[in-house]
Amino acid sequence: MAGLTNWAGNHAYAAARLHEPRSVEQLQEIARKASFVRAVGSRHSFNDIADTTGDLVSLHRMPRRFELDEAAGTVTVDGGVSYGVIGAPLDAAGYALNSLASLPHISVAGSCATATHGSGDRVANLSTAVSAMEVVTADGEITIFERDRDPDLFDGVVVSVGALGIVTSLTLDLQPTFRMRQDVYRDLPLEMVAARLDEITASADSVSLFTEWRHPAFEQVWLKRRVPDGSSFEPPHEFFGATIATVPMHPIRGMSAAACTPQLGVAGPWHERLPHFKMDHTPSSGAELQSEYLVPRRHAVDALLAIHAVRNRFAARLQVCEVRTIAADPLWMSTAFGRDSVAFHFTWLPDWDGLRGVLPIIEAALAPFEPRPHWGKLFTMSPAAVQTRYEKLPAFTALIERVDPSGKFRNAFVNRYVFGE
Ligand SMILES: Cc1cc2nc3c(=O)[nH]c(=O)nc-3n(C[C@H](O)[C@H](O)[C@H](O)COP(=O)(O)OP(=O)(O)OC[C@H]3O[C@@H](n4cnc5c(N)ncnc54)[C@H](O)[C@@H]3O)c2cc1C
Repeated sequence: MAGLTNWAGNHAYAAARLHEPRSVEQLQEIARKASFVRAVGSRHSFNDIADTTGDLVSLHRMPRRFELDEAAGTVTVDGGVSYGVIGAPLDAAGYALNSLASLPHISVAGSCATATHGSGDRVANLSTAVSAMEVVTADGEITIFERDRDPDLFDGVVVSVGALGIVTSLTLDLQPTFRMRQDVYRDLPLEMVAARLDEITASADSVSLFTEWRHPAFEQVWLKRRVPDGSSFEPPHEFFGATIATVPMHPIRGMSAAACTPQLGVAGPWHERLPHFKMDHTPSSGAELQSEYLVPRRHAVDALLAIHAVRNRFAARLQVCEVRTIAADPLWMSTAFGRDSVAFHFTWLPDWDGLRGVLPIIEAALAPFEPRPHWGKLFTMSPAAVQTRYEKLPAFTALIERVDPSGKFRNAFVNRYVFGE
């Protein structure tokens, strides 16, 4: 479709038409008539996961929904809204979500469809907060999926890679609001990380380790901690050999920290500390491609050293690499399904032709640790390799075939990686 690309600009959508319905009824009509149809969120994925040859539907003009159910401890939001829009009103009402990604710009529905995650040893990915979803399915009707009503099926529905239908609302679990502080440390030696990773990642609610892989060190460590009322916490000057930063930092060398959420220990609401980047600024570098692989937590150090061993073959193409931890979850197609995980994220220079030759090096280094690539990022692993990583895949394909018998919501990405066609 002429002119419409993803956020990074590396994928031009091939859809024949773009629809921007303003009501659920209009959306139902589009879904009913279409031969092939797909929802697109805020377009932050780096591959063709959201594309279709038929009708692409954006929900950003749909009426906003923000329905707090204080008795149930949930909020129901519409399928087009972003985390950045719901954070402040949730906080004002006294509530918070379990986790956020590095940026608030992404849509809730698109993030949950791809198992988007933040960081934290005990923090599962964003989709684990979903307790119900309304979905426009292939016949144009609305199907309601609820965790309490059918917990087994629900685990298959949430991380849908967009293949079950168009999500028009999501109900999210809430917790009491909290404030956080963010402290950054500089130059954490790799050997310290290898020796004491468990202590390092357990030292805050959310820990991110950043390295350019040019030296055996993590140039930055971001620690996000909850700050209880009245807390007089003072961070140590030193952290496992790293030194506390005295000025705000951007994870990417040379970029302005003005785009980043406040650091230097200044406490603020959860939705302005959990993401690295501010809603009204360009996140990350803005000119980039991304890849990310999740491996079981127990292999974290071996996997880290395996990447270190091949660093000279990819570092020239790298802007920054971020290492985070994610708690296991029961969602069939989640990258953290059944395993506490460590994620190796790579922000690359925007050159796919060069990158395509480099990703197999990293994927080969990680292969012994059964990596699962992030659904929304770039990878070159074979569909067969991806499929072997998901033991619930047969149940998921059966679910798709039942909910969408004509394959309306299937696209090239789903056919490749989910159905192996
Ligand atoms: C700068 C940057 C930073 C990032 N940081 C992180 C991070 O910290 N952690 C992380 O895990 N990921 C991160 N990502 C990746 C990002 O979270 C995922 O790509 C996510 O899917 C983006 O959501 P989206 O709304 O843009 O989805 P899109 O890319 O628009 O779509 C993704 C999938 O969701 C489906 N979808 C979207 N809306 C609906 C709907 N209403 N109903 C049904 N299906 C739908 C689409 O069909 C598609 O399959 C980052 C990406 C960027 C660009």
